[in-house]
Amino acid sequence: MSKPHCDTTIPHEQTPLVHARNVHKYFGDNHVLRGIDLDVNSGETVVILGPSGSGKSTLLRCINHLETMDEGFIMMGDEQIGYQLRGEKLYPLSARDIARQRSHIGMVFQQFNLYPHMTVLQNIIEAPVGVHKQDRQEAQAYAMALLKRVGLEHKADAYPRHLSGGQQQRVAIARALAIRPTVMLFDEPTSALDPELVGEVLATMRSLAEQGLTMIVVTHEISFAREAADRVIFMDEGAVVEQGRPDDVLVTPQHPRTQAFLSRFI
Ligand code: ADP
Ligand code: MG
Repeated sequence: MSKPHCDTTIPHEQTPLVHARNVHKYFGDNHVLRGIDLDVNSGETVVILGPSGSGKSTLLRCINHLETMDEGFIMMGDEQIGYQLRGEKLYPLSARDIARQRSHIGMVFQQFNLYPHMTVLQNIIEAPVGVHKQDRQEAQAYAMALLKRVGLEHKADAYPRHLSGGQQQRVAIARALAIRPTVMLFDEPTSALDPELVGEVLATMRSLAEQGLTMIVVTHEISFAREAADRVIFMDEGAVVEQGRPDDVLVTPQHPRTQAFLSRFI
């Protein structure tokens, strides 16, 4: 396996915000990511679709340092995930620098993982105040603005157990936004919700997409992909099989595996 390396051949003005090339990941003998290329421009919403086990979560986890890749590289802006170029050589980042890189990435999981013993507001300001050492007043004011954005400013002092699943997930989105991330990763954010609560979370995500947030969204919600995505990527068996504009991939898919996958949703 070759070492992760830095591609310096791309002119700056064309550099996407997230730029992954030839990403491979093994779990033992299981070759889970098989040479993924992914570009996401600033302000773009990219939806990743694919069957269970195709490597979607692993890809997001590589972007967010929750897994280390075995080959290839991911750039976030002009920085390489996990590595630093000094002179001609790449060096692995220190734990502190990895934490700094991760602080620019917001992630929302299937399980909302709010702290049960903290109010909604405390949940949201925990990272900005506790980790990023922001001024508490400022962090609270920003948290209230975020709660307004997700339609929950009246729940600031509530505890998570008093919220519906959909409300909890919207708080989790506000919490991820509180660190002012340059990119937001969503891993099946509505899969754990009762069907009647899915819509409110998707509506929140759609409005974030319209406001120009850069988002990579793994979901099985085809209607969200059609309405909110700038681009749809279909993954299968650790590879990108097909990608393009939502209508091209979702309505007139070219690859038989995309066609077979989508036929389940009709
Ligand atoms: P998806 O999100 O598309 O359902 P995943 O990225 O979760 O797929 O998983 C891809 C493959 O990697 C699966 O075969 C899964 O069993 C395996 N896998 C994921 N995480 C781990 C892990 N921590 N250890 C071992 N195998 C894993
Ligand atoms: Mg997954």
